[in-house]
Amino acid sequence: TKKMINIIESSSGQEKPHFVLVPLFAQGHMIPMVDLACLLAARGALVTVVTTPLNSTRFKALIDRANARGLLIRLAKLRFPCAEVGLPEGSENIDHIKTREEANKYFEALSMMAGPLVACLRQLQPKPTCLVSDSCNPWTRDVARELGLLRFIFHGPSCFFLLCSRNVHEYASSGDVPGDMFQPFFIPGLPQKIEVVRAQALRFFDYPEREKLQEQVTEAEATADGLIINTFRELETPFLNLYQKALGKTIWPIGPVSLANKEAEYTVLRGNKTTANEAELISNWLDAKDTASVIYVSFGTLATNSPSHTFEIGAGLEASNRPFVWVIKQRDMSPEVEKWLPELEERTRSRGLILKGWAPQVMILSHPSVGAFLTHCGWNSTLEAVSLGIPMITWPHLADQFLNENLVVKVLQTGVALKPQMKTLYVSRESEGLIAREDVERAIEAVMDGGEEAQARRQRAKQLAIEAKKAMEPGGSSYESLTLMIQHVLDATTVKLYVTETQI
Ligand code: UDP
Repeated sequence: TKKMINIIESSSGQEKPHFVLVPLFAQGHMIPMVDLACLLAARGALVTVVTTPLNSTRFKALIDRANARGLLIRLAKLRFPCAEVGLPEGSENIDHIKTREEANKYFEALSMMAGPLVACLRQLQPKPTCLVSDSCNPWTRDVARELGLLRFIFHGPSCFFLLCSRNVHEYASSGDVPGDMFQPFFIPGLPQKIEVVRAQALRFFDYPEREKLQEQVTEAEATADGLIINTFRELETPFLNLYQKALGKTIWPIGPVSLANKEAEYTVLRGNKTTANEAELISNWLDAKDTASVIYVSFGTLATNSPSHTFEIGAGLEASNRPFVWVIKQRDMSPEVEKWLPELEERTRSRGLILKGWAPQVMILSHPSVGAFLTHCGWNSTLEAVSLGIPMITWPHLADQFLNENLVVKVLQTGVALKPQMKTLYVSRESEGLIAREDVERAIEAVMDGGEEAQARRQRAKQLAIEAKKAMEPGGSSYESLTLMIQHVLDATTVKLYVTETQI
């Protein structure tokens, strides 16, 4: 009995829990995982983030900074098996992937990392206690099982998306969900009426060639020891409750994780591509603008726009006569856009700032001059806008973005759709004619015109930001969720040690 008590004391009292985080290697998945690493380390945990050589360069500076401040975050770099699946060398991140075939190979390569990850984790000291895996990495299930680790799923998207896409799938054969991909219907099992088309309410891998992967993802979630979601209880209460009930799992909403590092230095390093000079330039530019006057425009890291759509956005911004910061990423640059852009820049010189490539988004959204965000509704961007009180203009392009738009426009009512009821499965570089400059102009006016409706919307956005910040502070819902999650690990580890000892 004495021995047993000793073990319980040492594991729950003195040993640090050691979390291993396994992100999906895409900016929109790695960024929140690194934020989570900082949150856990700030509570005294030891954290190892699994990465690959090229991916690690994107957040090394942020982690070095965190280490210098005493946070215990390490990187475990594994080779990404490009050659084994026939991908060009260096295709380590989803933003390197160009075709569907490459994407299939990419997911195959990911699952081949299971063996090397087991070998790597066996060597870590102190031993890991818990594996936190992105929901898109179901292969980590076997890794955790082999090493006897607790395993939590980290969900990048909103709980609204998780619940709605699950319900649509579950009710697919009930008659409540039409077979036709573009026939409108109300999502079953929700507390309010939300009309969608099926093409915009699919789970991540609900495509014929990804059926098996979707099954594995669903199964890995069903067998996990708990779910971590980047959201906060006050934002998604009914959806969190319903999802919890549907899955019968413990859910810890621990976000918005973008509030983990509030210092300006971190917001510049997040995503790791902005130099101090660029950041200063942007900051000075914003300083010279009126409060809440600037439209920030960005479509995240994966959504692509055709040249004609890019021209329509530009023309709409120009016609709005308002200041704007527009991020155009490299993959949206084409010879036509390269030729057209300097002319637009010339005409809007006094009030437009066009950033090519990468922008320090959270730094920009944190600036008081920013008054609206034209976004593709990636969940990180959406939640960053929510946590900073910025009303949104929404133009979803793919995946969870369509349902996130519904959450923002219909449930939270802090956004205006750029094109209401746009019916598409996927907005790509090849799409044409989905939006026009008048749509851009109209949506900007609706958010910025200062009328009663716009003011009420802005007020709701501000209120959510207050609640988001409160959630992340000691005593707040997300802060306490993280405490409970860590406590769960400590308790479970204690039991495991005890069981092991009695077996001896
Ligand atoms: N981001 C950024 N600068 C950019 C583009 C994106 O800092 O120029 C960040 C953004 O703040 C967010 C993430 O990258 O944290 C993108 O994630 P999101 O879920 O919004 O969209 P995705 O890129 O996954 O479609």
